[in-house]
Amino acid sequence: MRNPGEFALLYSGFDAPISHLDCGKKCSPYNENGAPFCCDTRHAVPTVYTEEWVYLQENTDLWHVWQGSDAQETNLLESEKPHDQVLVECLGYLKCQRSFRSLTCRAFPFFPYITREGEFIGLSHYWDFEDRCWVISNLKVVSPEYLAEFFTTFDRLFNVRPEEFQAFQYHSMTMRRVFGRKHRTILLVHRNGNFYEVTPRDGRLRHINASGLPKFGPYEIAASLRFDDEE
Ligand code: SF4
Ligand code: SF4
Repeated sequence: MRNPGEFALLYSGFDAPISHLDCGKKCSPYNENGAPFCCDTRHAVPTVYTEEWVYLQENTDLWHVWQGSDAQETNLLESEKPHDQVLVECLGYLKCQRSFRSLTCRAFPFFPYITREGEFIGLSHYWDFEDRCWVISNLKVVSPEYLAEFFTTFDRLFNVRPEEFQAFQYHSMTMRRVFGRKHRTILLVHRNGNFYEVTPRDGRLRHINASGLPKFGPYEIAASLRFDDEE
């Protein structure tokens, strides 16, 4: 993945839907403009690698460089993103081209979870989106095909870009710090397909059944009111 053409291969190996359900239909009613949250740059601005950006520009008109609503917003996000990535925006969820979704689109809401010992054991979620992303509140709908492709894709990526492994190792450490301070455990979907809670302090894993997985924000409220239409 140091060469734009390799992204075609990477994309073709990471194309399984996250679930047999269209999760965009589950979260979008909670967004005021009706868009799935991860396809609305007011909530999440995708990034692409510079080589990925070359590949996309050569093959589709789906994407353009993202600009904030003012220079201050643009500069802030520019300063926070990694130097080898570009902030982008697509034409919108009504014009999505599945085969040209970015790697970040395909992985969302998950990231590779790396232990303090440096092992890529599973995936966890971007916790800032717990109140918006329906999938985070319904982890049991994530398909085995998606999980297999997620692991194969990131194994391949880390092999070629070891600095990405370090970036996710740092992000995992940050999650442990944040959750440790909040006295929360980290939800993990393990490579073995099972769900675990990770204790941030010592990394201990505790197996949990799918029926014991938590829900968040409006999805927790809907479930408590029995409006949960998960299946
Ligand atoms: S991944 Fe989450 S935020 Fe994105 S469409 Fe699915 S439920 Fe909505
Ligand atoms: S490319 Fe598709 S999945 Fe990605 S942000 Fe745009 S509409 Fe959403």
